[in-house]
Amino acid sequence: MRALILSDIHANLEALEAVLAASPAYDVVWNLGDLVGYGANPNEVIDASRRLGTVFVRGNHDRACSGLGGIDEFNPIAQRAARWTECVLSSEHRDWLRGLATGPIHPDGPYVSCVHGSPVDEDEYIVTVRDAWPTLHDTGTRLTFFGHTHIQGGFATNDDEWFKLMPEYRSNHQAEEFELRLRDGARYLINPGSVGQPRDGDWRAAFLLYDDAQRLITWYRVPYNVRGAQNRIVAAGLPDRLAWRLRDGR
Ligand code: ZN
Repeated sequence: MRALILSDIHANLEALEAVLAASPAYDVVWNLGDLVGYGANPNEVIDASRRLGTVFVRGNHDRACSGLGGIDEFNPIAQRAARWTECVLSSEHRDWLRGLATGPIHPDGPYVSCVHGSPVDEDEYIVTVRDAWPTLHDTGTRLTFFGHTHIQGGFATNDDEWFKLMPEYRSNHQAEEFELRLRDGARYLINPGSVGQPRDGDWRAAFLLYDDAQRLITWYRVPYNVRGAQNRIVAAGLPDRLAWRLRDGR
């Protein structure tokens, strides 16, 4: 089984289209949430994502933009984007977002889970090994896919040692991939990175492919029409900062 794992699309249709055009063959799609918020095409991104599959975890922006709360904790720019998104969402899409499952979900047996932030809190950022420790230490899950930080990579432990995982790339302007072979006896927290608003200094859209038979994770970065996404954000009247940050990957 090959799972295409997407997270944090954030209503960036140009980035999602580039990811789907570049993706290798897959059997299923697992979506780790934050389909909307920040970008200019929430309805189109929800439609495209629903055509891909049925496995979704709710993100904090999916919650806030569908009126389920948490908007007050956002910074002013994120708040403006969330209010704009709530206004333009079709009622059908708003209701669909409201019905999304909060993680963790187990789309492939008990040893694999999908969450947005962390297994206990969709708003929690796992950025450091210290953040990752409770999840990796307390869980029987061998492999947890998470998003929310918009940083591609992850964490691993075999109980003796702890590792921060970061794909290494050679360029920042062409499509690239980076493989990680999963080891028996180790536990992993793996982040595909953000499709629509990367924050790891690399503007290219991020995603991954998980091949359970090969025990292989392949991270990808693909260029996309960032100018097009920026133009739509500005034309929608969303804060300019949301457009400029896309080119910097911040
Ligand atoms: Zn996000």
